[in-house]
Amino acid sequence: MAKTVGAKGAKGARGVKTPKASGKYVYLFGAKTDGNGGMKPLLGGKGANLAEMCRIGLPVPPGFTITTEVCTYYYAHKRTYPSSLRPQMEAGLAAIERQTGKKFGDLRNPLLVSVRSGARDSMPGMMDTILNLGLNDQTVEALTRKTGNARFAWDCYRRFVQMYGDVVLGVQKGAGEDHEPFETVIEGLKHERYHQDIEDTKLTVDDLKELVGRFKALVKERVGRQFPASPWDQLMGAVGAVFGSWMNDRAIVYRRKYNIPTEWGTAVNVQAMVYGNTGEKSGSGVAFTRNPANGTKEFYGEFLINAQGEDVVAGVRTPEPVAQLKNELPKAYAELERIRQTLEKHFKDVQDFEFTIEDGVVYMLQTRNGKRTAMAALKFSIDMYKEKLIDWKTAVMRNPADQFEQLLAPVFDVAEVAKAKAIATGLPAGPGAASGQIYLNADRAVSASEKGQPVLLVRLETSPEDLRGMIAAEGILTARGGVSSHAALVARQMGKVCVCGAAAVEVDYATRTVNVDGQTFKEGDWMSIDGTAGKVYAGRVKTAPSEIVAGLIHDDRAARKTEKFRNFQQLMKWCDEATRMDVRTNADTPEQTANAIAFGASGIGLCRTEHMFFEGDRIDAMREMILAETLEERKAALDKLLPYQREDFAGIFRALKGHPATIRFLDPPLHEFLPQTKEQQSDLAKKLGVPASRIHSRVAQLHEFNPMLGFRGCRLGIGYPEISAMQARAVFEAAAMVQKEGIKVHPEIMIPLVGFKKELDLQLEVVHQAARDVQAEQKVKLNYMVGTMIEIPRGALTADEIAESAEFFSFGTNDLTQTALGMSRDDSGSFLPQYAELEIMKKNPFATIDTVGVGQLVETAVTRGRATRKDLKLGICGEHGGDPSSIHFFEKVGLDYVSCSPYRVPVARLAAAQAALAK
Ligand code: ADP
Ligand code: MG
Ligand code: MG
Repeated sequence: MAKTVGAKGAKGARGVKTPKASGKYVYLFGAKTDGNGGMKPLLGGKGANLAEMCRIGLPVPPGFTITTEVCTYYYAHKRTYPSSLRPQMEAGLAAIERQTGKKFGDLRNPLLVSVRSGARDSMPGMMDTILNLGLNDQTVEALTRKTGNARFAWDCYRRFVQMYGDVVLGVQKGAGEDHEPFETVIEGLKHERYHQDIEDTKLTVDDLKELVGRFKALVKERVGRQFPASPWDQLMGAVGAVFGSWMNDRAIVYRRKYNIPTEWGTAVNVQAMVYGNTGEKSGSGVAFTRNPANGTKEFYGEFLINAQGEDVVAGVRTPEPVAQLKNELPKAYAELERIRQTLEKHFKDVQDFEFTIEDGVVYMLQTRNGKRTAMAALKFSIDMYKEKLIDWKTAVMRNPADQFEQLLAPVFDVAEVAKAKAIATGLPAGPGAASGQIYLNADRAVSASEKGQPVLLVRLETSPEDLRGMIAAEGILTARGGVSSHAALVARQMGKVCVCGAAAVEVDYATRTVNVDGQTFKEGDWMSIDGTAGKVYAGRVKTAPSEIVAGLIHDDRAARKTEKFRNFQQLMKWCDEATRMDVRTNADTPEQTANAIAFGASGIGLCRTEHMFFEGDRIDAMREMILAETLEERKAALDKLLPYQREDFAGIFRALKGHPATIRFLDPPLHEFLPQTKEQQSDLAKKLGVPASRIHSRVAQLHEFNPMLGFRGCRLGIGYPEISAMQARAVFEAAAMVQKEGIKVHPEIMIPLVGFKKELDLQLEVVHQAARDVQAEQKVKLNYMVGTMIEIPRGALTADEIAESAEFFSFGTNDLTQTALGMSRDDSGSFLPQYAELEIMKKNPFATIDTVGVGQLVETAVTRGRATRKDLKLGICGEHGGDPSSIHFFEKVGLDYVSCSPYRVPVARLAAAQAALAK
């Protein structure tokens, strides 16, 4: 075994073993391939899939991957390499030489390589790829002689010196510079020699030679040393730059945001160059095996003739749609079609791939699972099931639950669009409909949206600086950029409505106006975009519910016939087959209930009764009840409230059509029902015919320092049992009424904020008494349960005792999170952002359950509760009930159901099915 440098097998921060100096660090791909697609942790995503493509016989230029372990080693050993790396790289390069018949640094037939970074997932912030490495003043002449194409050879050399100077030597835009220094040199030369901006492809051999000379001088001036001429020096410098970029600021920020552990490290790929810039029969492109925006099974992508890879995404020239290749290079197109089929058959998922055509021959440079919109994901999954590429369980898993809500987003009203005239068209990059007031920069878009305006961000093209504006906007419209542009990429990921590359849209940043089709739009004017069709409209176009909403909720027959609707129904059917947990809804009205049932909810998990007290005259009766000074007065006021509640419950029971309803008794502190300003209080006094002073003093009396922890929840029902008695009577009278109509009713009465068994027992007595009374009066037998919310830590910890009285638990994870963390949700905005930045908490605990802390209380309560009562029914009704990653946790601890808002029900059904399948 070779000598170990530094600490022997030292353990890293998370117990990752630091690799030793010996070992296999270089994995070949090509004629002989060491790795495969399953080795992403070791070879990075790019390297593993290059190996996999070689294994299935796709045309990949040969190369090798330096493993992520070298990255780990590099940082554990003061930025040095294991001693066996260099010999292994030499052997790797020799393998490339044998396969290509070229030699690195050779003066007859020089081998050039690309050096490409590759983490497990592609990661912005990592070093950019370097192409054409191995060129110097001698090898460029050799390449010219060998190919007989001086323009090509010098174009490669020009690109190489520029990329290497920028990425490895750090010759970049400094403070006070508007342009990349190399670009400034290019522009200078163009103006000197042609007095205008010409396309790069028009530069002559002599221009390119001059540029290489000026570039090298620039490097010398900026970094104080010569541009490296030795190919091996160039190679080692580039490899070092890739590993070095793992710790640059941008990469660190990105890893923090997406929870990527530092220990993962990046791999480096060294690969023989193939040339897309040899002339009109060559080119480079990026493509998807199917349309990632709307899911259509069509070859989708773009390419540039006579170009090297970076040109396609850099936006210097406008690429052509890939279908165009059929006319220009039919043989290459047929080969790409064959590859497209092979990729899908093998990876069994839609691929996003990069290719280069050299003199008519196609080479594959990268493939990965394509990012997609929710609409595309749905269509992909159903189509691929029908094509027998995947089974139904895989199809369920292929729909990202956290994007799924996009499918319910509005579309343009059919009649309205028919009337509207499209003023421009672009690429349909993010499906959906958006109308908004236009803004041309991110800051102004953000502040307009903060003022409550629906915003449409309009730009020539977008860049990462625009991200905030893109998040704030309803939709994004760009004048330039293709399907792989930044705007399209971000829209796909965030589910934003987006039209990009609408060339007819002229954006003028200076005057903050947009000119289209002879019309001028100022900032604040309305425009509308259809991201499904790629159309732009002037003014505001009315939107209509998505086909799914229209079909389910409005029973729209045309909508039910659409492919989107049928696919959705199919997916939900599979979800039902896979799922173990039920999905209920949080609903307080018959309408919400009916909507949720249409979305597939199997009952109500939380009906908040306090919302029922705010409408119309009810609030007056409620206030009378609160202001009452004697029991008699209070009972009189409660008698007025009883019929309202009974009607509400009856409506809900009817809408439920036999499904169960968990009804929570009055929960918030009473002062929330009283008017807070002096004027409002005086108005109320007049209305009720009482002196204003009485209201002032009652409000003052009800004031609490910490209302969240004050006189609320079951404490109200214990203090004023007549309130609970009225609510129980209303529930049971409604139940009797609806049951007599022939509809089954299952009320589940839920007592909030219980921490002591005795609290629950006192309320139980009141509820059972009301049940006995109503059953006797109405001569019916009612089927009901009484249980409690577990939402304070003491309740969770004494769940075994509480379960002696409770027939069910529902975890109120909002309050449970507040009380377990000692953090008020409403005040957390002032410190949570910093907590996220410092990684004290990885996720907002009010959005995604804190499984380690709060989750432990849930698990404890589940175990203790079930120990007492084997058939204890368990559910969750906090915000977390609609959050996919929280749902995975609830599946794990064995809850019977989750409950969420009506429009979240489909998301929860999908997430619950996926959680069950993942087990
Ligand atoms: P990224 O991770 O940014 O996609 P890549 O390493 O995939 O970077 O490189 C970007 C582009 O550079 C590729 O899409 C391809 O067009 C070009 N490229 C990389 N390696 C080679 C190569 N060996 N031959 C020709 N072009 C290459
Ligand atoms: Mg790439
Ligand atoms: Mg609560």
